[in-house]
Amino acid sequence: MADQFDLECRNVVKTFDDFTAVNDISLAIPKGSFFSILGPSGCGKTTLLRMLAGFQAPTSGDILIKGASVLGVPPNRRPVNMVFQHLALFPMMNVAENVAYGLKRRGVDKATITQKVNETLARVGLPDAGPKQISQLSGGQKQRIAIARCLVLDPAVLLLDEPLGALDLKLREHMKVELKQLQHEIGTTFVYITHDQSEALVMSDQVAVMNAGRFEQVGAPQDLYYNPKTAFVAGFVGESNRWHGTVEGGDDHKIEINLASGGKVIAKRDGQTNLVTGQGVDVFVRPEAIAIDGTEGADNSLSAKVDNVLFNGAASSLQVRELVTGHEMTVALPQTGAFASVKAGDEIRLSWSVEQTRCFASTEGGAGA
Ligand code: ATP
Repeated sequence: MADQFDLECRNVVKTFDDFTAVNDISLAIPKGSFFSILGPSGCGKTTLLRMLAGFQAPTSGDILIKGASVLGVPPNRRPVNMVFQHLALFPMMNVAENVAYGLKRRGVDKATITQKVNETLARVGLPDAGPKQISQLSGGQKQRIAIARCLVLDPAVLLLDEPLGALDLKLREHMKVELKQLQHEIGTTFVYITHDQSEALVMSDQVAVMNAGRFEQVGAPQDLYYNPKTAFVAGFVGESNRWHGTVEGGDDHKIEINLASGGKVIAKRDGQTNLVTGQGVDVFVRPEAIAIDGTEGADNSLSAKVDNVLFNGAASSLQVRELVTGHEMTVALPQTGAFASVKAGDEIRLSWSVEQTRCFASTEGGAGA
């Protein structure tokens, strides 16, 4: 059934003169989910969101909300609302007046407005904030009021345009969890755009990774992290060591690669029948996939010298340099046992498995340095 999805795009394209900002995007967002669109600056996220909101019309394709096309329906008649990065709260009105604003414009009667405002303030966890001035609120409370102002209109979908971007780092970390929790409690579908992969991974049920107007991959956060399907996704989502190389051989399960920096690695063949001998590839290995007490005879192993120990609690890491080639790598540092005493200048043996080594056709077209 079409309306099991709150929001659908079918082959949506947006061009500005001869520039294609959104290139053939199709998506279907299940009811009540937290869906993020993640991509670098300029990839087309905002343009896509503005089309969903109705501020811009697609050049071609269709957009459906609750199973019905909304092409030609103006923003104020769509069952969606948008929370902007700078929140756009009215400083001259108190909290209750801010939340009431959209209902007033719709001509809703006073008693209903009071009841809905109170209900909505309670839903976002600020039942007593009504009489407060906006300037009296913390950054996190302003965030909740900006969301309340949209929720009071009962949208099917809430569109959020980098709403944490203006907050300081500590508050942003806190609000990630709060927003996820809030979405879970109220059950409204959230479409959230961000260039911050950690925000997308922490909060979302599904993430679409966008690059140059297209979706590279759509999946659950764990899926994108552990099973990236393109070099862009492997490089953009999470930390990775990256090498350039050339395919030397292999079989149905693995690919042998000569690295441009010297040495060899063996990567998992993950359905990539397009990778043939001589092809330029990018190879990716996560820092936490590498053991620093490397075993002889492991699939992939090398000797390295520790340049730096970067202590950061559970997220501590080593910056190391391969002994033979000088290639720099990052390795997660376990906090247990003898590893706690690793120090700059130490020589260590690294090893990791084929399973945890990914390779994709090089985005640079050949084996570079
Ligand atoms: P950011 O994270 O920096 O906001 P974004 O991923 O949201 O980036 P968009 O704002 O959607 O990217 O822009 C995508 C591309 O489309 C950019 O190259 C931008 O210059 C171009 N673009 C957007 N709006 C217009 C417009 N009205 N006219 C011409 N080009 C535009």
